[in-house]
Amino acid sequence: MLSERILQIQPSATLEITARAQAMRAAGLDVCSFAAGEPDFDTPAFIREAVKTALDQGKTRYGPAAGEPVLRKAIAQKLHQDNGLTYEPEQVFVTNGCKQALYNLVQVMIQPGDEVLIPAPYWVSYPEMVRLAGGVPVLVTTSRETDYKITPTQLAQAVTPRTRLLMLNSPNNPTGVVYCREELLALAQEILRHDLWVIADEIYEKLVYDGMEHISIAALGREIYDRTLVCNGFAKAYAMTGWRVGYGAGPQAIITAAANLQGHSTSNVCTFAQHGALAALQGPQEELHRMRQVFSERRRVMVDWLQTMPGLGLVPPAGAFYIWVDMRATGLTSTQFCQQVLEQYQVALVPGRAFGDDQHVRLSYATDLATIEKGMARLAAYVGNLA
Ligand code: PLP
Repeated sequence: MLSERILQIQPSATLEITARAQAMRAAGLDVCSFAAGEPDFDTPAFIREAVKTALDQGKTRYGPAAGEPVLRKAIAQKLHQDNGLTYEPEQVFVTNGCKQALYNLVQVMIQPGDEVLIPAPYWVSYPEMVRLAGGVPVLVTTSRETDYKITPTQLAQAVTPRTRLLMLNSPNNPTGVVYCREELLALAQEILRHDLWVIADEIYEKLVYDGMEHISIAALGREIYDRTLVCNGFAKAYAMTGWRVGYGAGPQAIITAAANLQGHSTSNVCTFAQHGALAALQGPQEELHRMRQVFSERRRVMVDWLQTMPGLGLVPPAGAFYIWVDMRATGLTSTQFCQQVLEQYQVALVPGRAFGDDQHVRLSYATDLATIEKGMARLAAYVGNLA
């Protein structure tokens, strides 16, 4: 009954722990969860209001598969203002979350057998998206020594005649690291030298701290601009995960093809949700700054705690809302570590295995400070008992 394509897809390795944490909660246990992949804030009120108005105005019908023209235009303006990228609105397509932009682009750019470079650890869906397109994910493993960033040398070494594309995610999930301009420039040179393409996943763009700047690799010159597809969305910046609005931008032929694919699969993104996204771009940005400040403070508290724990190591993250913790000194696998700390101390973390690395765990600080303090004290007790 099942196609070969779908049989190649792995179930999510995070589900087991999440399901267990939920069951423990349902049984009345006080679980501190650091597993969240989404902001814990509500969508700002002015965005919710904009959708109510859109509904009352009858923005409830089918729209163009590539998105509402007014939103495509606003996204093109945003990309110009925030990222220094010049696109016509037709070079932008609106998708069901950043995820669908990534998915559609991989579908239209990859031939069976093409190799796609994926820095590891990686966001869980990249390898599966590549496999679903008939491509071959080639993992390029990063390490703590290089701040979990791939180097130009690593990139060059991974290239073969079949390599077509690099999936680049900065700020990064799960490591929280942010590539700086010089690092991106060096990667761009290598990408152009080997005639590759880049899909730049910039979904955490707005969540950068300590004065760090998010740079889009596409902004680093005409040649790399021509070789880059930029993907982004509203979920993380505006606490709009459930709305499912994202977008992709890049060379016209590729965007047209990806929009065409969308026309035969999901059609347009929910019309009134697109009007909420429009309000997010055009309205006041104070809420976004406030959320970033709250995240930044939580990050500081969590990093301070983790740095006191023997056997754990980390590179203080500059973006997103994750901390990637090296626990290889404990001698446990990431799954064992997460299972033990959940069962014994009711703290939920995500095993690194889900992101292609069994010697790390991911902690999310998309939760309140009281939970962070309580959960970190418990984690410290667990780690202290291991030592
Ligand atoms: N890319 C990365 C790196 C993510 O972490 C996520 C969500 O967790 C996405 C893309 C998907 O974003 P969206 O909810 O807009 O589809």
